[in-house]
Amino acid sequence: MSLTYCFKKATHSIHRLPLDSREVLDALCRQIQAAERNLNAAAALRLQGCLDNCRGLCCRNLHLEAVFGIPDFVYILTLEPTMAAGMAECLRREEPLFTSNCPFLKGGVGPCIFPPDVRPEVCITSFCRGDAALKADIGRVKKSFWKLGFFLWTRKLPGVHRLLLKTG
Ligand code: SF4
Ligand code: SF4
Repeated sequence: MSLTYCFKKATHSIHRLPLDSREVLDALCRQIQAAERNLNAAAALRLQGCLDNCRGLCCRNLHLEAVFGIPDFVYILTLEPTMAAGMAECLRREEPLFTSNCPFLKGGVGPCIFPPDVRPEVCITSFCRGDAALKADIGRVKKSFWKLGFFLWTRKLPGVHRLLLKTG
């Protein structure tokens, strides 16, 4: 699936949600954001190394379909709806089927246009120098994204949604 397709599908999914499901979506996205903040704090030294020494090599020459899915766009668009127009503009640079630099590098160069605590799952949980010390924090981010994916998959079953919020 191209990023443009996922972006459009995510936009559509958010707009079609009934009000009570929208509240659950907001809560699930806040859970992801809290998990991302914890991971960023735990990985602060490594992230400083990324900034000082590498400047985001892992955002270049990528198979982007392996990085972004519909839940990633739903997450970003729910917490940062004002970024939608800018994201659509970035996606005009997308070259589906080929490896390429991420279209969300500011000005095509970087840094990433997204806030540090509103990043796609793969971006925030991937560390090229090992992640053994971060496994618990990475696990919490992955679990919270899994819940968002499950919510989107079952969005016509509101009873299931309430259970998702209770699982912490
Ligand atoms: S995770 Fe590795 S490749 Fe990515 S920015 Fe950090 S040092 Fe560079
Ligand atoms: S969304 Fe941001 S962190 Fe993720 S690959 Fe693109 S530029 Fe890098």
